[in-house]
Amino acid sequence: MLPYATAAEAAAALGRNLTAAESLWFRYSARVPDPLLYYHNVLFLLVIFTLAPLPLALLELRLPSAIDAYKLQPKTRLSAASFAKCYWDVMRVFILVVGPLQLVSYPTIKLVGIRTGLPLPTAGEMVAQLVVYFLIEDYGNYWIHRLLHGKWGYEKIHRVHHEFTAPIGFAAPYAHWAEVLILGIPSFVGPAIAPCHMVTFWLWIILRQAEAIDTHSGYDFPLSPTKYIPFYGGAEYHDYHHYVGGQSQSNFASVFTYCDYIYGTDKGYRYHKEHLAKMREQWRTSGQNGELNGVNHNQKSA
Ligand SMILES: [Zn+2]
Ligand SMILES: [Zn+2]
Repeated sequence: MLPYATAAEAAAALGRNLTAAESLWFRYSARVPDPLLYYHNVLFLLVIFTLAPLPLALLELRLPSAIDAYKLQPKTRLSAASFAKCYWDVMRVFILVVGPLQLVSYPTIKLVGIRTGLPLPTAGEMVAQLVVYFLIEDYGNYWIHRLLHGKWGYEKIHRVHHEFTAPIGFAAPYAHWAEVLILGIPSFVGPAIAPCHMVTFWLWIILRQAEAIDTHSGYDFPLSPTKYIPFYGGAEYHDYHHYVGGQSQSNFASVFTYCDYIYGTDKGYRYHKEHLAKMREQWRTSGQNGELNGVNHNQKSA
């Protein structure tokens, strides 16, 4: 809720006219209590969990030939019932854990200084904060994920997320409720260290989930805009982690590739890629072009 009765009052307080985005924010938020603005995240999460994976899921079920060339594990086919079960299991954790956690965590947001007022942040400020949040989240997630691959953590908690050896977008948040809670911590550390505006916070929540859904999509599209993000892992990178399964000691990072590189946990993946490249070269020189469509993990390396 903004402490100004009118846009003119807000402009006078800022000492300048409101930008178009600020006028829009004023009209939208002036009379909305801050907790309610924060609770928008519940709606955003619900919408993105439901809608973002839907186009690829529908294509895979109804028109698989259109995207088969880009499927990372083409030998694995899930039924419509499996897609639906995954979605409903995710929704159950969302209703029982994620949603309630959002509702009770507003005082923490207030405490760390997430603001709702004017001025709005500049685009540069938003991008800088989001980059920092992604880097912090990636680092924290790497170590938590790596610990979850210990015997106890895997059997008691992380095994659930690995039920999908060939992930789908809906399976991005498919995990034991405890894992959902634990992995929420690194997502919050960035905004706690470098507090942002509520609009940036909304964007962070949306982008983080969109990234996770992209990473679990099960498809590697060559023209994906994420290919231009430096050190971005993407679907192929994380798909390999699921493909190897519980004993995987490779590709723990959630967003970028640098942690696995620095800590030497990408060796299995790199060996796998080199082996596939050699196979492709051998097949090409022996005149069997077209056997491999991109890199797909069903061509086992060892
Ligand atoms: Zn894992
Ligand atoms: Zn995963």
